[in-house]
Amino acid sequence: MTQPRRQPELAYEPNYYAGDALPPPGCPVPVAPGVHWLRMPMPMALDHINLWLLDDGDAWTVVDSGLNTDTTREAWEQVFARHLQGRPVRRVICTHMHPDHVGLADWLCRRWNAPLLMTQGEYLSARLISAGMAPTDTDGLIGHFRSHGASPEHLQGLAGRGNFYMRMVPSLPQTYLRLEDGQRLRMGGSEWQVLIGGGHSPEHASLWCAEHRVLISGDLLLPRISTNVSVYPIEPEADALGRYLHSLERFDALDAATRVLPSHGLPFSGVHGRVRQLREHHAERLVAVLQACAQRALCAAELIPLLFRRQLDTHHFGFALGEAIAHAHRLCALDALQREVDAQGVFRFTAGEAARPGRVDALARAAAGLAMPLAA
Ligand SMILES: [Zn+2]
Repeated sequence: MTQPRRQPELAYEPNYYAGDALPPPGCPVPVAPGVHWLRMPMPMALDHINLWLLDDGDAWTVVDSGLNTDTTREAWEQVFARHLQGRPVRRVICTHMHPDHVGLADWLCRRWNAPLLMTQGEYLSARLISAGMAPTDTDGLIGHFRSHGASPEHLQGLAGRGNFYMRMVPSLPQTYLRLEDGQRLRMGGSEWQVLIGGGHSPEHASLWCAEHRVLISGDLLLPRISTNVSVYPIEPEADALGRYLHSLERFDALDAATRVLPSHGLPFSGVHGRVRQLREHHAERLVAVLQACAQRALCAAELIPLLFRRQLDTHHFGFALGEAIAHAHRLCALDALQREVDAQGVFRFTAGEAARPGRVDALARAAAGLAMPLAA
């Protein structure tokens, strides 16, 4: 099988307009009008998360809460003791339901008697998974991964890990205030608009301030790593990658001078270049998947080496398999792949007519939301 060609657009480098100095833990740093950057450590390969503290006049709004760890709580205590200028936290916004974003939301809301603001899809999903309801529980995940060809060793690793989400998000506020697409919030002396996107999580909220051209992008747009896009057992036939690529159109429409405040990595500008690069990244992987499935019927677990070249531990294997399913389903949505169940109950993907020579690149680029076919 030929390796996917590298595209010149992949050479795009984000512009870290705020420099590369990192805020020390527990010390907010101003990063845009009315917005302070907090960087909390995390004990994993992705070793930090960025949170945002918005100056709300006589109070503060917090965007994302950090992981449920003593280190994060201690960093927050330091912020409360030294950096709030005697003003309370008025509300807690969580961009989405992942543990690094929502893990301490309940603690923060109780501490300040503040409401939690989330989209309905994110809030209800968080409640469902933290309650261990099937099929979002470990058994559901194991069944889902088995049906996509995960090895007994990987399934055993997942079973041994238990319900990771329940441990990381032990409680959530029992009520919330719903964020809706296009809703406008007054924060930090400016108006912010809620932009909802999908693919990474059910109903992820980014926040856009037109006045200062600032985007709090959450996990939907990151400067270095590509956002994880996965298919989960509760929606096993989802075209999650299609949903994610569609969400990127919202960022395409923003001003070219937009400053992006991402949840991981450094604040950056060059939103359009980064969106283009992500589309190219997925197009390259879709080509590889299509070419491989043209040779023989493959399950999603067999596609993982095409998408990830490094060794994967149990945690990362889950992300990788979810991402492999998402790429296969994107091509299924365009009838470029067919999905069938084999005698062992494993889904296998085959490419038919769509994968004939000369057609693969154009098809993959169309699937990634790039209209023009590749130059020869
Ligand atoms: Zn996330």
